[in-house]
This record gives sequence, C-alpha cells and structure tokens, in this order.
Amino acid sequence: RGFIMIATTNPATGTVEREFTPHTDAQVDLAIAKSVVAFEALKDTTIAQRAEWMNKVADLLESDALVFGRLMTLEMGKPLSQAVGEAKKCATACRYYADNAEAIMADETVDTEKTKSFRRILPLGPVLAVMPWNYPFWQVIRFAAPALMAGNTGLLKHASNVPQCALALEELFTRAGFPDGAFQTLLIGGSKVEAILRDPRVRAATLTGSEPAGASVASICGDEIKPTLLELGGSDAFIVMPSADMDAAVSVGLDSRTKNNGQSCIAAKRFIVHADVYDNFRDAMKTAMEALIIGDPMEDDTNIGPLVNEDAVKDLTHQVENALSQGARRVTGAEAIDQDGAWFRPGIIEGVTEGMDAYSQELFGPVAMLFKVDDLDAAITLANDSSFGLGSAIFTQDKAEIERAFTEIEAGGTFVNTMTASDPRLPFGGIKRSGYGRELAREGLLAFCNVKTCVVA
Ligand code: NAP
Repeated sequence: RGFIMIATTNPATGTVEREFTPHTDAQVDLAIAKSVVAFEALKDTTIAQRAEWMNKVADLLESDALVFGRLMTLEMGKPLSQAVGEAKKCATACRYYADNAEAIMADETVDTEKTKSFRRILPLGPVLAVMPWNYPFWQVIRFAAPALMAGNTGLLKHASNVPQCALALEELFTRAGFPDGAFQTLLIGGSKVEAILRDPRVRAATLTGSEPAGASVASICGDEIKPTLLELGGSDAFIVMPSADMDAAVSVGLDSRTKNNGQSCIAAKRFIVHADVYDNFRDAMKTAMEALIIGDPMEDDTNIGPLVNEDAVKDLTHQVENALSQGARRVTGAEAIDQDGAWFRPGIIEGVTEGMDAYSQELFGPVAMLFKVDDLDAAITLANDSSFGLGSAIFTQDKAEIERAFTEIEAGGTFVNTMTASDPRLPFGGIKRSGYGRELAREGLLAFCNVKTCVVA
C-alpha cells in the first residue's frame, strides 16, 4: 500500500484484526492546541495533586494489568505473562515519580555572595514522544510518568502497529483524573512527525526506536533548537569469565536474549566468553535454548511467541543467512518457522568475525552471537568495538575484573552477575549511536525541564 497502515495485526496468526483511520492534520492541530491548554492547567496544579492522579494511573495499571497485557500480546506477540508483568512494572514507575517528584523538583539553594541564589525546576510545555512497539506500555510510561509529574503535557506518536495500546494509554491518564489533553495519542504515521516537531507550541521531543528515526527527529529538532532525548538500538555485550557461576550465566544470558521474543534494545546480543569456559557455556546455552517452549503467546507456559511481523522474520533470517554465508556457524535454531504468522526459532550462531555484516549489526530477535576470547582485555576490546553503547553485563567473581568493567566498557550501564534491566530508581540510556540523554530516576524528570537560575541581589 502507498500509505502507512495504522492497524492491529496479530503476529501469531498474521490476521489484521482492526484498522484505524489516521488522524487528519486538522485533528493533530487541535490536539496540539488542547495540549497547550492542558499545560496551562497542569502547571498550576500542585505536585501533590499530580501525584494523586499518578498513583491512580498506577492503581489502574495494576487492576487492569490483564486487560492491558492481552492488548500488548495481541498487537506485538510477547508472552502474556511478560505483558502483564510490563503493565505492573509501569505502575512502579508511576509510583516512583508520584513519591519523588516533590524532592527532585524542590528549589536548591546555592551559597553565593548574593542574598539568595537557587535553582528552580520548571516544566517546558507539550512534549512529543515517538515510541516503538516492543514494550508498548513501558516505553510510554517511562516518558509520561516523569514528564506529567513535572507539569509537562504529552503527545504520543506510537508505533503504527500498536494503536490499541496507544489509545488505552490515553484513556488511562484521563481515567486517572489528569486534565483533558494532558496526555493524548495521535494516530499518525512517521511522515507526519516533522510538522509537529516544527510547530512552535511543541517544546521538546523524545524518541525510542531505530537509528534512522532518531537521526531524523534529532536533526529536525536541531534545526528548530529543541531539546531531544534518544533511546536507540543496542548490541549489548554479555561477558562471561572463568570465575563466573556458569549456571547463572547461562540462565540469565538466555533470559536476556530471549525475553520479549528477543526484541529488546537491552537484550544481551553479543556473548563474549572466555576460552576456558567457552565450550561449556555454548553447550549449556544450546540445551537451554532448545528447551524453550515456542507457541501461542496467550498461553501461560509459552516462553517464546512470534516476532512482531513477517518483515521482522525476513530481516532476521537474512541477517543470519548472510552471516553463515560469510563464514559464521549455526549452533542451533536461528531460522524461520514455516507457518502462518511471524514465527522464528530462537538460536545461536558462532564464528562471527570482524568484517562480517553481523559483527556490527543489531540482531533484533532471538539470535545469540557467541565470541571466544582469551582474556578480559580482549573481551572489553570486543565489547567496545561497536557503534552502539546501551547496556552491558559481565559474569565474574573477580573484584578487579568487575571494577574494570564498570570503568572501561563503553555503555550507558554495566550489570554484574545479572542482566541489564531498567529500574525507575536508576537512570537509563545509552552512549554512542545508542542515543543520548537519560530516562528514569532524577535524570528522567529533569530531561524535559527548565533548570532555572534564580538570583536576588
Ligand atoms: P522504528 O522503526 O524507529 O520505530 C519507532 C517509532 O519511530 C515508531 O513510532 C515509528 O513510527 C517512528 N518512526 C519511524 N521512522 C520515523 C521517522 N523517520 N520520523 C519519525 N518517526 C519515525 O523502530 P522499530 O524498528 O519499531 O524498533 C526497534 C528499534 O528500537 C531497535 O533498534 C531497538 O533496539 C530500538 N529500541 C531502543 C530502546 C531504547 O530504550 N534504547 C527501546 C526499545 C527499542 P511507525 O511505526 O509509524 O513507523
């Protein structure tokens, strides 16, 4: 088709369940106008009032977790238990900001020779959020909870394949009591984003997604001198050293690579394993990978559902086949499953070397790449030989190795003996081509605020 389709297509069956008529330019214009009105209302409310509404958002996310979970699974295919978990995790972020916004935004006095000098944190206004489908609730709440607590308003351009999640999110904030227009969903394709970014009423933008989308939004906002925050792709290293608890390394590594059907920005994607334990790790990972239950994502015991759509299966299959043709080896799986829907068997490849395409690409699906190294120097060099720098993990019992990993791995996060995961209390973001700026924690609230300098003679 020549136009962007905004629709729910069940990836487990390939069936288009529901199509939506995109919003017209006039509807978008009205939404921006409403966002400005809501901003005027919201910035005059107390933080305590906003916290009450935000706690109500959390209550609804918890009480309706199954309803929201089913929507997520229907639209993008993650196992229902993980989707329900996502809705509940969203509630924790809402409560974190409801509890902490007051302290984060409190005036901060600075001693100078003047009578009074201090910082005051003020909201900016309407912020556009361009979001991906892979964590259809979490990515949005991660932006919206701090932004609305700060007094900003949100305009959501969600991925075109999760419109029902997008509409449910808008309704969620309204049901919780936020002023009409404080958080609105725009059903539009990516081509409509530029005009919104150039609209002077929209003050800032955040994007989670691919590099091309991020580069486009950032360059337009650069031209318009508007702040942006980008959370882009990753190809996280997962280093395993000889002292590691091998069972934990295998089970956590497998979980990190296959959670969310392998479609997570912070999934472990490059397993960099010390030669002394490489064969053991590979064999155990192979056994564990082959034991995963692939099936209907609505079923409780399913570990792996479909990929998001058939194009994703084609792209990932092509990346794997290309790596194999360039000399990599298949350890297990990593191939399309021939049935209706977007099915792909998780797998492992090894022998990927510098110069092969897969060496520098993100594999956005359940395929683990294994690399063998002789020491930590080689592991860190390989980990850093990537254009990305999102998360990272290392399994080791050695204190010196842990310290080196914290300092030397080029990434927005390093997790030791556990997997990279976001937590509302901790900042989240990347460096290099994984993006810039930080979401969550204090940083996530300040991202879309004016840190105002206030001085009295
Ligand atoms: P995507 O194609 O970039 O889509 C993300 C969002 O951007 C969608 O709403 C999409 O709208 C929109 N979009 C696409 N092109 C655009 C453009 N030129 N201008 C404005 N908006 C545009 O990303 P994806 O392929 O769905 O998601 C996978 C990528 O996201 C992976 O690289 C993954 O690692 C990354 N990701 C990063 C994080 C993080 O926190 N760092 C989290 C999750 C995912 P349409 O759907 O209408 O095209």
